[in-house]
Amino acid sequence: MSDDIRLPPADPASPAPRGADIDWLVPCPEGLYCPPGDFWIDPTRAKPRAIVTHGHADHARPGHGAVLATPETLAIMAARFGPDQVRGQPLGYGERLTVGDVSVMLAPAGHVLGSAQIVVTHRGRTAVVSGDYKRRADPTCPAFEPVPCDLFITEATFALPVFRHPPAAGEIAKLLHGQEVFPDRAHLVGVYALGKCQRVIRMIRDAGYDRPIYIHGALAPLSTLYENLGVPLGPLLPVAGRARADLAGELVLAPPGAVADRWARRLPDPLVAVASGWMGVRQRAKQRGAELPLVISDHADWDELLQTLSDLRPEETWITHGREDALAHAAAGMGLHARPLRLAGYGDEDDDSPADHTGPQPASTEG
Ligand SMILES: [Zn+2]
Ligand SMILES: [Zn+2]
Repeated sequence: MSDDIRLPPADPASPAPRGADIDWLVPCPEGLYCPPGDFWIDPTRAKPRAIVTHGHADHARPGHGAVLATPETLAIMAARFGPDQVRGQPLGYGERLTVGDVSVMLAPAGHVLGSAQIVVTHRGRTAVVSGDYKRRADPTCPAFEPVPCDLFITEATFALPVFRHPPAAGEIAKLLHGQEVFPDRAHLVGVYALGKCQRVIRMIRDAGYDRPIYIHGALAPLSTLYENLGVPLGPLLPVAGRARADLAGELVLAPPGAVADRWARRLPDPLVAVASGWMGVRQRAKQRGAELPLVISDHADWDELLQTLSDLRPEETWITHGREDALAHAAAGMGLHARPLRLAGYGDEDDDSPADHTGPQPASTEG
């Protein structure tokens, strides 16, 4: 550790990994700290200055002194925490900003609306903090842009070879087919409120379905926000106040928690679908009560993770947020230098049991 770097107060979460001679991003229990810029990236506690990759709750926390993020992420944070709770400075994709002694740019991450990779350049070296990302097309946000870098920090939510997500359009087709086969049942789809909900709705529209879609009240604010930010979702109606019989044969979206709850009893013979990357794991689908598991993920699967490392071939890779060891091992096999970064406090928005970081047994995940 060189002397000119001002360390944050807390102890590093793990022996600070060093590579690509970049010692100006420091992994700490509360997130990544950049001493020459004096800011935190996705800190899990309130900090004077934060750069936030995207609006999911484990990355975007309330109470920061100042937040730098895309305009869409700031709008999402304002919608969640209240407009006066977020002192934000917007930075659009591709724009550069000098922060202290470093240059910061945001690039699309393809995860949810507004999601960004944080590109930090200092003394001619570039680090990319990708946050959560995926490489598949998503009609609700711009595609992930590979940014050449010396250090790449990647998530590893689905970093096991058993995780290979099928094309999402096929999963939507299954849902619409189920609706034809069971015209008397409400089709209840569990979706996370930010991102998954709007992507599933948009994909249903792209499959040619233009009838009203019924939504749980908790999904309304962010869906309205997506529409205001230029993502049309077609006719959405509240479930509240509907007669049970009116919902026969209709598509109903609700947060995953409501699907297994008393709330669902207001629906006629609901056929429960859950849209999540974890639905490829039979045991999880069962836990969630999903009669129709839809494997639709906003995270990169195994192939997408490896593709990204092979596209970028960074001098150094840090891996966080999931199956660090499996991806580190695969990266080493590609001749890359990679290390697990054990940052705490990040979960997976699709996962009901974030404490369960060991996750499913690979043996049960085929299919
Ligand atoms: Zn996320
Ligand atoms: Zn995350």
